[in-house]
Amino acid sequence: ALSGSESGRSWRLGVMGGTFDPIHHGHLVAASEVAARFDLDEVVFVPTGQPWQKADQQVSPAEDRYLMTVIATASNPRFSVSRVDIDRPGDTYTVDTLRDVSAERGPDTELFFITGADALSQILTWRGVDELFDLAHFVGVSRPGVNLQPKDISHLPADKVTLLEIPAMAISSTDCRRRTAGGLPIWYLVPDGIVQYISKRGLYEKGPHDKESHG
Ligand code: ATP
Ligand code: MG
Repeated sequence: ALSGSESGRSWRLGVMGGTFDPIHHGHLVAASEVAARFDLDEVVFVPTGQPWQKADQQVSPAEDRYLMTVIATASNPRFSVSRVDIDRPGDTYTVDTLRDVSAERGPDTELFFITGADALSQILTWRGVDELFDLAHFVGVSRPGVNLQPKDISHLPADKVTLLEIPAMAISSTDCRRRTAGGLPIWYLVPDGIVQYISKRGLYEKGPHDKESHG
């Protein structure tokens, strides 16, 4: 494949941040759809770092979430995975993700941050949101159960934020974890390799509040 500079235009890079605990077909459809509609050359999936001191919110080890993301994206030549958030100490902030990816890829790369409507509404309430728009274009994809209307983002620069309707996938990682803990199948909600990885590693077998007992 031609690099951005060889082809005479910048490399159009989607950035899909998430906890990916586990990655599921909602994430993959979102990335694939934005890649097609925005003519992206690549989408890099960026699993978040391990949250610090969040007793109320147990998250699987970063290496498990990283490996699941690699397994789920391996067959798509335009999908890749970055460790920037996993390797940076402390909590993950989108501005750091975008700064690091931008620094890693250089000036010929144009960033498109891909986010579900639920996560987008949170990000846009943050302070320092103007810096985010200097770093990337934001694509907010529809998500079942989340009602984000164009008027909700009308105060934001129109050339920096786009809402996109995508095929509805009523899937969440929370539901996948609950189903596993409750003995229900997650086949077809996540890629086959992810079902097998979760089973092999014994992830989500206990309820979220029992997890601490693993030490
Ligand atoms: P959890 O239930 O643990 O929050 P999740 O399913 O929301 O997990 P995340 O890792 O939190 O997954 O999400 C990463 C990104 O993918 C977020 O921007 C989120 O809005 C988006 N996303 C997740 N699931 C979907 C879906 N089914 N459709 C569209 N976007 C999604
Ligand atoms: Mg979420």
